[in-house]
Amino acid sequence: MSVLEDLLVVQDHDSAVDRLRHRLETLPDKARLAEIEQQLTALETSMAGVSDRRDEVVRRQQRHEDELASIEAKIGEVDRRLYSGTVSAPRELQAMEADLGSLKRHRSDVEDHVLETMQDREPLDTELAGLEQQWTTLEQEAEQLRQAIAVQSAAIEAELATELEARTAAAADIPEDLLSQYERLRATQGGVGAARLVSGRCSGCHLTLPATELDRIRRGGADTVVLCDQCGRILVR
Ligand SMILES: [Zn+2]
Repeated sequence: MSVLEDLLVVQDHDSAVDRLRHRLETLPDKARLAEIEQQLTALETSMAGVSDRRDEVVRRQQRHEDELASIEAKIGEVDRRLYSGTVSAPRELQAMEADLGSLKRHRSDVEDHVLETMQDREPLDTELAGLEQQWTTLEQEAEQLRQAIAVQSAAIEAELATELEARTAAAADIPEDLLSQYERLRATQGGVGAARLVSGRCSGCHLTLPATELDRIRRGGADTVVLCDQCGRILVR
């Protein structure tokens, strides 16, 4: 086989490699995964916001509960002294009863605050649970996609390895300067550096070459490197 025919075989493998790499980059599951990962990030932001708001309410609830406990303790203390029999002076007893009354009114206010914070907390708990549920469902879908992508990628990588090996074998006898000329053309001509000349037409740009040009090509030897005068690709005839 001539060196130029070898070059066409290299071109076939290179085109196959390009297609496989493109398939690898554009797997539909990858696009879907990217979409889901964006949604997961957005959900995490929302969850953090709701969680902050809920934490603030929880701290408020805790403060009220602590205050309530301290009032209960004071009430207990006054109650014990009041009924212990150790205090007998009527004025002192009266003052203690007044104290008790004011403590109980304060307790009632604080109990209301505890209830309010519990009511504030409930919708935030519900919202957070809903967001967490959505996150879990999406994360499961993301994990399935990651596994599917890994399987698909492994299959394409295997095909790529085969193509690259065949490409190396096909390029073994091609002179270095011709190969680098081909690579330069491939880089600027959409991945195609060598094209067959079929019935006077370049199969790279699909244009028919002028008769004078075809004459010139025919007169050249089989291994003379000829470029298409329309697109500049190496013509194989
Ligand atoms: Zn051409």
